[in-house]
Order: sequence, then C-alpha cells, then structure tokens
Amino acid sequence: MKVLVPVKRVIDYNVKIRVKADGTGVETTNVKMSMNPFDEIAVEEAVRLKEKGTASEVVAVSIGPAQAQETLRTALAMGADRAIHVQTDVETQPLGVAKALKALVDKEQPQLVVLGKQAIDDDANQTGQMLAALLGWAQGTFASKVEPGSGTVSVTREVDGGLETVELRLPAVVTTDLRLNEPRYASLPNIMKAKKKPIEAVSPADLGVDMTPRLTTLKVVEPARRKAGIKVGSVDELVDKLKNDARVI
Ligand code: AMP
Repeated sequence: MKVLVPVKRVIDYNVKIRVKADGTGVETTNVKMSMNPFDEIAVEEAVRLKEKGTASEVVAVSIGPAQAQETLRTALAMGADRAIHVQTDVETQPLGVAKALKALVDKEQPQLVVLGKQAIDDDANQTGQMLAALLGWAQGTFASKVEPGSGTVSVTREVDGGLETVELRLPAVVTTDLRLNEPRYASLPNIMKAKKKPIEAVSPADLGVDMTPRLTTLKVVEPARRKAGIKVGSVDELVDKLKNDARVI
C-alpha cells in the first residue's frame, strides 16, 4: 500500500505570532518555520505503517515556495521514501491544495492519504475533507487510532464527548489528531541519508491545477489583551466576585 502524506510549512508553533502593522497578515520575515505539527503526526503514522510492513512506500508532498523543500527534507529524515514539491509562490488555500493533491493522487495512485487535521497557520481544517470529496473517497477525520485491515482501514475519531470508530473502504483519506502518536525526532544519520533521497519538482501547471487564491483576507488583528487578574483572599470572596462582578454563577 502506497501512502501519500501532504506536509505544510508553517510558522513554528513556539513562535509568538506578530500581526503586520498594516493588518494584512502575520509577520513571516525572519520567523522560524517548521512542519505543521499535525503533519509530523501524519508522517510518523505513515512511517510506522511502513515499519510494520503494511505500507510499501511513503511519499511526502508539499505545496509552496522553494523553502517547502526543507519541510520535505524533514519528512524524508523521519522516514518518508521520496518527496514531491509542488512549487508555487502564491498563498496556498485549502481548495487549491486539495485540487493539486487530487491531481497527484491520480498520478501516484496511493491507497491512503494521511493529512493533518488542520494547518496551524490558517486553522482551516478543510483540505482533507475537500480532497476526499474531490476523489469520491471515504474519509476518517480527527484520527486517534488507525488500524489497516484487508482492503479497509479502521479509524478511531476524536469527537465531542468521546471516540467514534469507523471502518473505511480503501482507498481513503485520514486526517490526524494530536493523540494519534508521538512523532520521532529525526536522527543525525537519517538527516544525512535524507539529503540523498529524491525530491521531484512539479508546478501547478504541470498538474493542470489553478492555484490562484479564491479567498481574500480582509483584516488580521491581535487577540484582545487579557485584563490583569486579581488575587482573592478567601473562597467566600471568590464566590462573591463570581456572582456579583463576573455574574457567571
Ligand atoms: P488546512 O485545511 O489548511 O487546515 O490543512 C489541513 C492539512 O492539509 C494540513 O495538515 C496538511 O496535511 C495539508 N495541507 C494544507 N496545505 C498544504 C500545503 N500547502 N502543502 C501540503 N499539505 C498541505
């Protein structure tokens, strides 16, 4: 079974995000970028499937500027076999990405596509679902457990208030949630080995896909500043404040 893993280059989750002065977006100059954390989980899951002998090949894909190749090298160092870079300098949006991935799926014929449940920059949580719709494939989103069977994959999903297990007929799309696994750190020898693994470069035009953004961001603002807290002297005072000041009980 071939597994395709789309990985997005995003601002590192440890970075304190700064909104640009003109409110058109967030500052990305001189900011540390990394693989989207949910995509690290997706790569880890695919590599584990390969180690178990269930997957025959793990192919990482990233759509974005030249630097997206660094993200692909990370995926290769974690254990992906090869990578495809869809080079574009326009902002990537879920529908365009899903269309590019559909074109790659048509070409590569994987049995399973494992994406992150959401990219932490746009928080869209749309690409996996759009890809499944474009392909007409089954989807198991927010996965906390993935167990391939024969011609099927069983996916335990993190839903509000519990877990739901669905069995999907392959080929299928799975999106990862936080508790699926703990991604490995790439070892130095594997980072060195990854430098020799192939990254194929293609353009959206090669795939016959128009990646022009369809959505326009009108304004980006910082979250409202939290007011300073206070210390209360007793439980009675706390209850009084919650009742009469905050009016929440
Ligand atoms: P989103 O729908 O934007 O929240 O992204 C969900 C998932 O789609 C991510 O976790 C990635 O697996 C994949 N994805 C989104 N954008 C890209 C991209 N530009 N390149 C590769 N994968 C992407």
